[in-house]
Amino acid sequence: MRKQLWIALSSASVLIASILCSVQVSAENASKIQEKFKDAQDEKNKLQSQIDVKDTELKEFEQKMKQIEGKIGEIQKDITPIEDKFNQETTVLNKMESQYADLVSNMYEEGFFSPLAMLLQSKGFDEFIANLDTVKLIADRKYDLVNKIKEGRNQVKKQRDELVARQNLQQQEVDKAKKLYLELVEAKKKDDSALAEANKIIEQYSEEMIDVNKALIASGKLNFSYTGPMKSPINASMTSPFGLRKHPIYGRYIMHQGVDYPSPTGTPIYAAADGVVVSSRASGGYGWLLTIYHGHKSGVPIYSRYAHSYPNQIKVRVGEHVMKGQQVTSVGANGQVTGAHLHFEVYAGENNAVNPTSYLQ
Ligand SMILES: [Zn+2]
Repeated sequence: MRKQLWIALSSASVLIASILCSVQVSAENASKIQEKFKDAQDEKNKLQSQIDVKDTELKEFEQKMKQIEGKIGEIQKDITPIEDKFNQETTVLNKMESQYADLVSNMYEEGFFSPLAMLLQSKGFDEFIANLDTVKLIADRKYDLVNKIKEGRNQVKKQRDELVARQNLQQQEVDKAKKLYLELVEAKKKDDSALAEANKIIEQYSEEMIDVNKALIASGKLNFSYTGPMKSPINASMTSPFGLRKHPIYGRYIMHQGVDYPSPTGTPIYAAADGVVVSSRASGGYGWLLTIYHGHKSGVPIYSRYAHSYPNQIKVRVGEHVMKGQQVTSVGANGQVTGAHLHFEVYAGENNAVNPTSYLQ
């Protein structure tokens, strides 16, 4: 009964399609349109995979730059206390140096100040020498101290300079990565605009392609190679398998011609593979039935069918070329159902429903 209805409706749609195709596309023109459309589609696929590769590379660059910047931060953590120490020691040293300078200038200006006064008060040469040694000792000790601090400060400076050099090296890495990153961004921009151009061509020819495909469907000449496997048409779990089952409404054992994916109304449904929409119509218990032709496999046409949508959820037209994963409709509860779900069928040949799981990836 259902098969007969399907055949009747198929013949009817063929008839309607031939009537609708009043704007006849010449065979020569049709093949030109098909060629241009296919070229643009191939270009689009090529560019899309190039863009995907670049996106991955850009993410890697971002990761790398983050890592290096982290390293620079780590080195900065080491540099900060060393720099503080260097500054502290510089302050101490400056103080010492000025004290030493004071000491020396005092020796001259204040008539050799107290140590010099001590010298002048020396009684006899021996005492003068002894006092001179004392004065020298005071001056030398100060001088040694200054040298020691200078040396220490130089070591700290060396440590700091080494760390800064390491940090600069990392910075050079960041700069290099940033340069490559920007080059990649530029290259991606070019791909993006080429993709937009390909999409424009696809857009430009899509109306004519629909006419060409409609004419091909009407004459039964729509034929290209199947490019499966199919991808799940929905992000949901399959519950009711293909085969004989007790029907949820009729209560008797009936062949289940497809698989079911219960899901809330409005859940997106995607084309299972690349193809052309060949039928979109109300169909009894199916509610609305959308059929996509996916090409011939070993001489047999492969179709996928999507049931129970509402007509206003359908996003594609008969004759329209669709890509695998493109949203074609949404889940509804139209027709004979116990709840909202996608009923999905695969046909190998005009009247041969097969188990979809053997076609799904
Ligand atoms: Zn079902």
